[in-house]
Amino acid sequence: MQAAILSIGDELVLGQTVDTNSAFLSAQLASRGIMTLLHQTVADDVTAISDMITYASKRVELIIISGGVGPTDDDLTRQALANAMDTELVMDQAILPSIEVFFTRRGKPMPQRNKVQAYHPVGTTLIPNTCGTAPGIIAQLNKATIYITPGVPSEMKTMWELNILPEVIKHAPSSRFIQTLKVNTFGRGESTVAHELGELFNRKRNPLVGTTVSQGIVAVRIRSEFKTLQRTTDELNHTRKIVEDGLGPIVFGTENTTLADVLVNMLIKRNLTIVTAESCTGGLIAKRLTDVPGSSSVVKGGWVTYANEMKTQELGVPQNMITEHGAVSEPVALQMAQSARQQADSDFAISVTGIAGPDGGSEDKPVGTVWLAIADRSNVTARRFAFLGTRQTIRDRAAKMACQMLRFKLLGEDDAAMTMG
Ligand code: AMP
Ligand code: MG
Repeated sequence: MQAAILSIGDELVLGQTVDTNSAFLSAQLASRGIMTLLHQTVADDVTAISDMITYASKRVELIIISGGVGPTDDDLTRQALANAMDTELVMDQAILPSIEVFFTRRGKPMPQRNKVQAYHPVGTTLIPNTCGTAPGIIAQLNKATIYITPGVPSEMKTMWELNILPEVIKHAPSSRFIQTLKVNTFGRGESTVAHELGELFNRKRNPLVGTTVSQGIVAVRIRSEFKTLQRTTDELNHTRKIVEDGLGPIVFGTENTTLADVLVNMLIKRNLTIVTAESCTGGLIAKRLTDVPGSSSVVKGGWVTYANEMKTQELGVPQNMITEHGAVSEPVALQMAQSARQQADSDFAISVTGIAGPDGGSEDKPVGTVWLAIADRSNVTARRFAFLGTRQTIRDRAAKMACQMLRFKLLGEDDAAMTMG
């Protein structure tokens, strides 16, 4: 069985909204052994939508369409399906109360225009929506069973889980199950990571292993495909363990976990506090730490000391130290971290001073030179990095490295394992 996934909306084809529904649906289908043949994003255009429905219905057995079933004039999926099926829209009186209830619960009358949501092509069935007003639709055309859901990702997911998945599973061949996992690393380049994983990269291997890089994070992607769900999961976990054991502490999490998430959660677990003293990152580290829910119990605050005078006034960096060594130097980084930690009486301080560019580099200290220091209650250490890239990239890598350096310290790991920068 093969599937097609259609995402409907001008905002999607214009690039204003990223189509996350397709990614979600494909992964859901793949894990149940249904391969997706095509993803298609279509504008709010009735002819384009109906043409695409016709095209897909001749090629695959399952079509899932999200979007374009709201009450407004640009919601054309219902009409497009009717056109593709060469039929009319009819009103389903029975579903009206389930649409109306969304308004009565809020003490409002239902706007007249919401009535259009009770319309569906002759010969199709409506799927009630438990968390919004737009019902879904089930239809049959050529060789395909078609499911239409609202575009709002949370409503689409609820309808998928409650109404569509149970139906799809009944008809799925389930001869293959596919599961994927992304294991994230930071601190070594992609080629180094690939080299260390060696044999795992064999293209004939199952689970299949590969790497991708995004924003300095080298992700090891694992794809496991077997005949039973149990074996698929077991083999995925087994490969995951080989990858994690092979790469050691540069592995910091899976899927969408960030370095800041991991660090803040470690600090919360151990009841340890932190402050930041930032120059070239301009508050980025503090921002990322405080992005994490629950960070208020461990992040005390921080300083952004961009100008030399601020480093002196706020963090007691002696003027002559800056004159002698420069603002981007080991003694300045050490002093910033130490003095921030002392003043805040926190368990840790992270400091960063560097040259983010594009100007300000020299032969000794080219753009990308960054000193990072970490102070704890008894000790302070610093390390120099040479990051490559634009101003934004250098600041991003410095902020990530700061989190990873402190994470290594908390784990008692040697940061020499990080060879990047
Ligand atoms: P619609 O059901 O077409 O009215 O879509 C409602 C809202 O859901 C849109 O304004 C988008 O913000 C969001 N949305 C629709 N389709 C998608 C999609 N494929 N991926 C992510 N968000 C979507
Ligand atoms: Mg829309």
